[in-house]
Amino acid sequence: NTFTKDHLDEHLLENIALARYASPTPVQKYSIPIVANGRDLMACAQTGSGKTGGFLFPIVSNAFKSGPIAVPAGAGATYGRSRKAYPTTLILAPTRELVLQIHEEARKFTYRSWVKPAVVYGGADIGSQLRQIERGCDLLTATPGRLVDLLERGRISLANIKFLVLDEADRMLDMGFEPQIRRIVEGSEMPGVTERQTLMFSATFPREIQALARDFLKDYVFLSV
Ligand code: AMP
Repeated sequence: NTFTKDHLDEHLLENIALARYASPTPVQKYSIPIVANGRDLMACAQTGSGKTGGFLFPIVSNAFKSGPIAVPAGAGATYGRSRKAYPTTLILAPTRELVLQIHEEARKFTYRSWVKPAVVYGGADIGSQLRQIERGCDLLTATPGRLVDLLERGRISLANIKFLVLDEADRMLDMGFEPQIRRIVEGSEMPGVTERQTLMFSATFPREIQALARDFLKDYVFLSV
């Protein structure tokens, strides 16, 4: 019952050890091999279950193993000229508190690597968030409304997304974010369901969440812990 090289990159295992996580929680134990094997996932898990690690560990591990990917011609290595960021992972979550929590974990587990985490959320100055994403934005954690704003300003492109995570999907729907979520996930830039890997986490599994899972996931594994 430990984190092992079977599914996780060695540098990530070092960062997990630095965080003093001795063994995986149940949701981590089951989700890591599912995600590492490339499957889409619908997981019912509560806050406090360790679900953040459940999606971050296999995603960060995959990034470490595959290395940086080339940005589109003209974008420039530092995204300098077009001032547009091309994240490869997008994590959507409902609130400022939650995106900051996820970002903090993302910082811990990408420590000493090429993967640059960034976070954007509404109700805060957009200027400092723009400067932050210009410094690097491989793994982006965002609230839906602020992300739509940045997409419409042309400052973020979703064309390179490999991993899409919807965390606390039921709360995002309760907060009225479905139009923004659909604009993001079903927009023309987002790679199609067969090109990306999609993970949904929700405390509950009502009809509305089942509908989103049908629309956003392909042949998914259902996990309830
Ligand atoms: P989460 O449910 O992802 O919000 O995690 C709840 C709390 O448990 C957070 O403070 C995490 O840092 C902590 N945590 C998550 N996974 C582990 C683990 N495997 N070992 C110890 N603590 C953990």
